[in-house]
Amino acid sequence: MSTTWHVLGAGSLGTLWATRLARAGLPVRLVLRNEQRLQAYRASGGLTLVEQGQALCYPVPGETAQSPEPIKRLLLACKAYDAEAAVASVAHRLSAETELILLQNGLGSQDAVANRVPLARCICASSTEGAFRDGDWRVVFAGHGYTWLGDPAHPVAPVWLDDLGAAGIPHEWSADILTRLWRKLALNCAINPLTVLHHCKNGGLQEHRCEVATLCAELSDLLERCGQPAAAEDLPAEVERVIQATAHNYSSMYQDVANQRRTEISYLLGHACAVAQRHGVAAPHLEQMRQRLIVHLDNLGLPSD
Ligand code: NAP
Repeated sequence: MSTTWHVLGAGSLGTLWATRLARAGLPVRLVLRNEQRLQAYRASGGLTLVEQGQALCYPVPGETAQSPEPIKRLLLACKAYDAEAAVASVAHRLSAETELILLQNGLGSQDAVANRVPLARCICASSTEGAFRDGDWRVVFAGHGYTWLGDPAHPVAPVWLDDLGAAGIPHEWSADILTRLWRKLALNCAINPLTVLHHCKNGGLQEHRCEVATLCAELSDLLERCGQPAAAEDLPAEVERVIQATAHNYSSMYQDVANQRRTEISYLLGHACAVAQRHGVAAPHLEQMRQRLIVHLDNLGLPSD
């Protein structure tokens, strides 16, 4: 009998994973915040995934975090700023046998989760898949991509990667998951905050090359000096390539701000600045940009943490 996948967070990525696992016939249960959300979910009939214009509903069973049954495998699919509290809400159901898969972008939330549940194995993920909600319990699969998974503490891949293969979730076990997470964080820091401050698509940064180059230099220096030299390799060239390849897209941070949603700033730019300070690395432009972004978010009435 396969181990049940408990998916906490019925948002974009949580739904994208839960529906594909369920479609493959694997046991999946959705963990919702409270009884009210559970009733609303049950009334909707299930999770709907919209793929290539076709909407299909999957009646994945739901439960609340307070439910007593033990959890052996937990896919944590909430935002970075919710991760620690979300894990705390199910801590009574976890044990030394539990494995957690952490889908959060950025860095910082993974350590917070691991400290909350020191016995459980924490596997970090970095994904280039894209999805968005176009209604409650309904998600559009917007961009095919890849998910890298890895455990900084244990290099051995878990056997359940076969489940991902069966579910058609493109993935790879990564021995250097921290390098991947840092690289993605650095790309994000060099692009996303500037698109918010200059109110532009990614391609608009081609008019702000000097600013981008200065940030890349500081980020490369920081990565090299905080033990992540591989994540610094050719960073400016990759930032330039991403800006060109995604010239017509709005960054995720831009979209969060435009939709008046909380950003993950503390786990991206905020984390970079905190690590710079901890290592005594000067990063004045990153710090200045963080301050500008905080003022910008405050002015819009959005959380700046
Ligand atoms: P999302 O759509 O906002 O979904 C997050 C979900 O978590 C929401 O349904 C929220 O419930 C739920 N949640 C939060 N705290 C909870 C708790 N204590 N108990 C139960 N449910 C809880 O977020 P997302 O876009 O899937 O992003 C998840 C992570 O993946 C982020 O770090 C993001 O940066 C990363 N990521 C996303 C994408 C993408 O394309 N979406 C791509 C790559 C990486 P409520 O609705 O009730 O608040």
